[in-house]
Formats: sequence, C-alpha cells, structure tokens
Amino acid sequence: MKKLALHWKILIGMLLGVIFGIAMTFTPGGKAFVNDWIKSFGSIFIKLLKLIAVPLIIASLIKGVSDLKDISKFSKIGGRTIIIYILTTVLAITVGLIAVNLLQPGKGISEETITRLTDTYSSDKAVVAKLQEAKKQKSSGPLQFLVDMVPDNAMSAMGNNKKMLQVIFFAILFGISMLLIKEEKVRTLKHFFDGLNEVILKMVDLIMLTAPYAVFALLANVIVSSGDADLLFALTKYAGVVVLGLAIMIVIYSLMVKFIVGKSPGWFLKNLSPAQLLAFSTSSSAATLPVTMERVEEHLGVDTEVASFVLPVGATINMDGTSLYQGVAAVFISQALGFHLTFGDQLTIVLTALLASIGSAAVPGAGMVMLVIVLEAIGFPPDKLAVGLALIFAVDRPLDMCRTVINVTGDATVSMIVAKSVGKLGEPHPVEWDDDYHVKK
Ligand code: ASP
Repeated sequence: MKKLALHWKILIGMLLGVIFGIAMTFTPGGKAFVNDWIKSFGSIFIKLLKLIAVPLIIASLIKGVSDLKDISKFSKIGGRTIIIYILTTVLAITVGLIAVNLLQPGKGISEETITRLTDTYSSDKAVVAKLQEAKKQKSSGPLQFLVDMVPDNAMSAMGNNKKMLQVIFFAILFGISMLLIKEEKVRTLKHFFDGLNEVILKMVDLIMLTAPYAVFALLANVIVSSGDADLLFALTKYAGVVVLGLAIMIVIYSLMVKFIVGKSPGWFLKNLSPAQLLAFSTSSSAATLPVTMERVEEHLGVDTEVASFVLPVGATINMDGTSLYQGVAAVFISQALGFHLTFGDQLTIVLTALLASIGSAAVPGAGMVMLVIVLEAIGFPPDKLAVGLALIFAVDRPLDMCRTVINVTGDATVSMIVAKSVGKLGEPHPVEWDDDYHVKK
C-alpha cells in the first residue's frame, strides 16, 4: 500500500487538533486537560526544532561557504539575496496597503465593538508587554542592528537562539577563512562539517516523524486558548483583508517560481508544504527553519551553498507576511479610530514596515511589537497605542499563523531565485528516513 505523504499526515494531525480543541472548549475541565496533558507535546516539538537550529546553521553555512570555489561567488549570492529580499518585502507591504485602502475594513466597525475590544484588551498583560518591548527596541540608535550583528563571544552567540545573526556572522567569517587556506590544511575540518551537516539534517528527518502528533497538540492548544468568539467575529473583515493580501503573495511567489525559476508552482508548493504547515502550527519561522532548510535543499534541489545562507538570513530579516500585516493593521487601526493618513504617511508605513521586517524576531507575536513602531512613525497618538493594539489583538494569533507561512514561503522562493541565478539549482534528492521511515536496504 502506498504510504500517506508527510504533508497529508500533518494536515490530518492539524485537523484532528482543531476538532479536539473545539470539543475540549465545550467540555467542563477540557481547557485544563489540554493545558496539563496535551500542550507539553507541542512545546517539546518546538524545543527540539530550536535545539538543532544553531548547529544546523553553523554546519551548513560553514560547509556551504567553504565549498564555494571563490569568494566573489559568495558576494554575488549575498548581494542578490539582500536586494531580492528588500524588493519582495516592499511588494508585500504595497499589496497590503492597496487591499486595506480599497476595502476599508476599519470604516464599518461600530463604536460599540471598539469599546468592547478596548475594554477587553487595552490593559491586557500581553498588550502592555508588547508596548514595553517596542519601547526598548526604539530606544536604540539607527545602527544598533549592525552592532548587534557582530558577536563579541562566539560561545555566548551560539548559546542564544535570539542571536541567530551573530551565529551567521561567525559561520560566514569562519567559512571564508577556510576558503583562504590551503586545501590540505582544512580537509579534515571540511569533512567534519560535511558530516555534521548530514547528521543534523537527519535529526530534522527524525524530529519530523513526530510532526503529525505535535501539530495536533499545538493546534488543540491554540483553539482552547483563543479569545471570545464574538470578538473574533467582529474582526472578520480586517482579518479577511490580511488573509487576502497573504493569498495574493502566494500567487506572486508562484508566478516568480514559474517565470523566473522555470519550475512548476504546484511542485514547489507541494514540496515545501511540510515547512509551511509547521510555520502555521508553530507561528515561528525560527522554529521552522531547520525544516525549511531540509525541504529546500533535499526536496527543491537548492545547493547548500545558497540555502545555508539565504534561509537563515531570511528567517531573521525577511518577513513579507509580517510586513504586509503591519501595513494593513496600521491603516485599519487608523480607519477605525478616525485618524487620517496622508499619502506621505502611507509611504512612511512602507519604509518603517520594511525596517520592522528586518528587526522583528522570528517568534510568535513579534510582528505586533514592531507594529507599535510603525504606528509611532506615522504620528499615531501615544496614548491611543494600547487602544490600537487592543483592536486587533483578538485575531492576532490566527493571523500570526498565516503570516508566518508567507514569511517561510517568501524565504524559500528567494532561495530558488538566487540559486537559479548563480547556477546552484540542482535536482531534488530526498534521502532515507525522509518523510517516512524506510529501512535501509
Ligand atoms: N511569527 C512570525 C514569524 O516567526 C513573526 C510575526 O509576524 O509575528 O515569522
């Protein structure tokens, strides 16, 4: 009998998780049961993925860079990646702004709903925490992100998942230095990182075997911890505009894959789908990164030289879905609270959401923190910020899940384009234990 493909297993797990979550919401003691007995399995899965992120970046990036024949190739890959990332992000924000200006979801929202949302969420702990975090981010100077990128201690950088860019910096410097040394002197080191890279990719395969069960736990937990269904419903139009914008981005990526890379969009999306489903279930592109790397390298045929740089960098600085959402949310809040936005303000949104995409952490809810900075940049009254966030807070988690899918898809698309442009797009090569558990013959 033909085995069920991994993405179908994950989808079934997700669906069952949703059904179970809904059933538990209506069962006395059900929420506590999910909290005590189910949630932990989702948390363990996310921890496992995060556990391998740093070693994977180090092994694959050092292998990738040191496999290049010359450094000029690396600067080509680097330059193209950054430029295409900026272009796709600006495109995403523009799509969001056009949709929100045409459909005006904030205009129809009643005073009563605004009051209810404000009363429910404006002093919510999570909203207050986001405002505080945004304040911290803002108090640093404009070049702080460059300073933050350079580690002063390699070990402490590797010991902190939040310092991904520092790890990338160290690995690139290490790889380039290896390139500059005589082959025979670094041969052993090269074999070591080659082997390490293979082992860690295998760990991804093993962890992914548990994905269908983990997504069940993750989604059941999302459902039992979601807010009042009434308030969710009041924001359908706003959420619809964000989702529409995100769906348009999928179409744009598909067109890019077809016309720039010359591959079938259906094939691209199918092979990437396990990573997309995990992005949806975990709301974190950082946690999804190991799976994205494995899918892109082994199932889409992008060489390690390209994937090992483009994807980790993308997970940290390229968030098309997040910036699209920030554009829509900023305009929606302004429409709902009667705050007039000029054309110049909308341009400011494009610029600040672009910078916010670079500054947002690849973890759940990070996009909302940076939204505060976008709102402040357009002169939104500071005393109304909490009210603004309260308006969109109820649907933030589901939208976070959707925008993370776009963040991951955007990174994968750009890795295909860059690989194609430097002649590093090869044939897919799924390996054993991959997707399924085959016995070695
Ligand atoms: N959760 C998103 C990510 O990890 C970031 C955000 O939009 O909040 O990509």
